[in-house]
Amino acid sequence: MYQNEEGSPLTAESVLALFEQLGLRNTRPRRVIAGRLADLAQEEAEFAVQDFWNELQVLDPGIGRATVFRTIEVLVKHGMLDRVPVAGGTYRYRVCGGSHHHHVRCSQCQRVVETDVCIPDEILTAVADSTGYAIDGHSLELFGRCPECKPATAGGTGGTGTRYGSQ
Ligand SMILES: [Zn+2]
Ligand SMILES: [Zn+2]
Ligand SMILES: [Zn+2]
Repeated sequence: MYQNEEGSPLTAESVLALFEQLGLRNTRPRRVIAGRLADLAQEEAEFAVQDFWNELQVLDPGIGRATVFRTIEVLVKHGMLDRVPVAGGTYRYRVCGGSHHHHVRCSQCQRVVETDVCIPDEILTAVADSTGYAIDGHSLELFGRCPECKPATAGGTGGTGTRYGSQ
């Protein structure tokens, strides 16, 4: 997994270094892609690959759709980008930190946050026991309503338990 230095965002240099490590030539399209991703990392924006390609074409009209799609897949594979599913079976991409985490998407406003809360070991062990597989990875996507879209606590949601100080 790719590790950010001290939590700093992905940079154009780090993307180009990965391409070099993989033996991919730093062609102009790849440099344009790296530069635009570095901007998106600063903005903490998530993007659809089609929109990303459209933006790149403004910067370099000759940039090929296949190159962009293939490059995005390479970056996902090497942990520089996260692929997050969206309702309807499509994906969006995010520039995230390098450590293990999961995403929670608001099903109303689509805002995504990261969480480092993970599946407990007992569950992974139970899956291993019941299937006979040696489990060595997982992905988990969570959906719900963010604090802004969640209805006010009046009503039957139960709230946060100790909120009213009952003991
Ligand atoms: Zn992420
Ligand atoms: Zn929301
Ligand atoms: Zn996990």
